[in-house]
Amino acid sequence: MSNCLFCKIAGKTIPAMIIHEDDQTLAFDDIHPQAPVHTLVIPKRHVTSIQDLDESDQPLLARLLLVCTKVAKDKGLADPGFRLVANTGRDGGQTVLHLHFHVMGGRHLGWPPG
Ligand code: AMP
Ligand code: ZN
Repeated sequence: MSNCLFCKIAGKTIPAMIIHEDDQTLAFDDIHPQAPVHTLVIPKRHVTSIQDLDESDQPLLARLLLVCTKVAKDKGLADPGFRLVANTGRDGGQTVLHLHFHVMGGRHLGWPPG
């Protein structure tokens, strides 16, 4: 989608601190980190939110989640633990309308979020 920020990052027309890339996914550090580790994992293909995936997207969803756990492990979060978040829609606090998982850790994260 031509006016989508994360499509532009996936297309390398906007720079990002990319830490993983494969044919279907990209992981890059959040520009406004809310924790010592705060990385976003996205599908390269434009998908607005997790609600826009269907049965045919099971391999993509599995890939995204495996990339999240790889990012967490590579960033040293396997033992202390981490949080995966997919903000969805207005009440979910989604501000960028391209599916992304937040991988967050490196400090104790309170629960529930505000
Ligand atoms: P959400 O509020 O769940 O939609 O998350 C969007 C996230 O994208 C926020 O944590 C932003 O800080 C992050 N973000 C916005 N612009 C950029 C960018 N150019 N590069 C990296 N992260 C970004
Ligand atoms: Zn997009």
